[in-house]
Amino acid sequence: MNVKDILNESKFTFKKKFGQNFLLDQNILNNIVKLGNITKDTLVIEIGVGAGALTKKLSEKAMVVLGYEIDSSLKEPLSKILSNNDNVDIIYDDFLNRNIKEDINKYQYKNIMVVANLPYYITTPIITKFINEQIDVEKIIVMVQKEVADRFSAIPGTKSYNSLTIFLNYYFDIRKAFLVSKNVFYPKPNVDSAVVIFSKKTHHMHLKNKDHFFKLVKDAFVQKRKTLKNNLKSYDIKKIDECLKKHNKNINFRAENITIEEFGDISNELSK
Ligand code: SAM
Repeated sequence: MNVKDILNESKFTFKKKFGQNFLLDQNILNNIVKLGNITKDTLVIEIGVGAGALTKKLSEKAMVVLGYEIDSSLKEPLSKILSNNDNVDIIYDDFLNRNIKEDINKYQYKNIMVVANLPYYITTPIITKFINEQIDVEKIIVMVQKEVADRFSAIPGTKSYNSLTIFLNYYFDIRKAFLVSKNVFYPKPNVDSAVVIFSKKTHHMHLKNKDHFFKLVKDAFVQKRKTLKNNLKSYDIKKIDECLKKHNKNINFRAENITIEEFGDISNELSK
């Protein structure tokens, strides 16, 4: 029996609030799995198991797939769909309420790969959760709306570039892998998606005070249309100007035109 039939048989009803558009296209599922370099030493964390089509493919490559699914009415269909995949553990809970370290400490693994296909509003909190809980993740592969993908990999000077871009790019190399048409989902959503890969950075930019850096960046973007001079009034603006001059810029620039390295330089200068 195929996935659609199993969902129908168990009288599963799709819930919009959980972003339940399931990906059933075999080619795209295979392409997502390939992005991960998953081996039999890999613990794969899948957030939003859905109808388990991706889970099944991940489990063939991985040591274990630890899946999270908020909707417990998927328990019955998933037990059928994944009946032959005994290296899959599923926790029926909101991933954002979990303690990741506690959930993973029973596994012996060499590396962690995260895969998630989720509503856009939950994607950033999820990535931030891995950062805050200091989980050593090699790659995070996420599928998001096309526009959100652009924001993650935005470059200075573009509309999508903001403090979130800088925060995420400090920790990860981020690249868009491929676009996915809305036509390959069941049911069909309103927008196209893109797969984005977050790869752990091996070398972080040198920062004297990471908290200062992130606060500076956040403050610099508080009012996007205003200049640094206006947004950073509570900082030593003269020092900032001197530092920016080294990069042929000045405090009359907007934050959207300042690179992550330049912000790093300013923060280090102010933290002397
Ligand atoms: N991975 C599947 C696929 O590719 O077909 C399902 C994708 S579907 C877009 C998103 C899934 O995430 C849904 O099954 C939804 O119930 C689940 N979900 C949404 N929010 C969640 C959360 N906070 N924690 C765990 N699962 C969640």
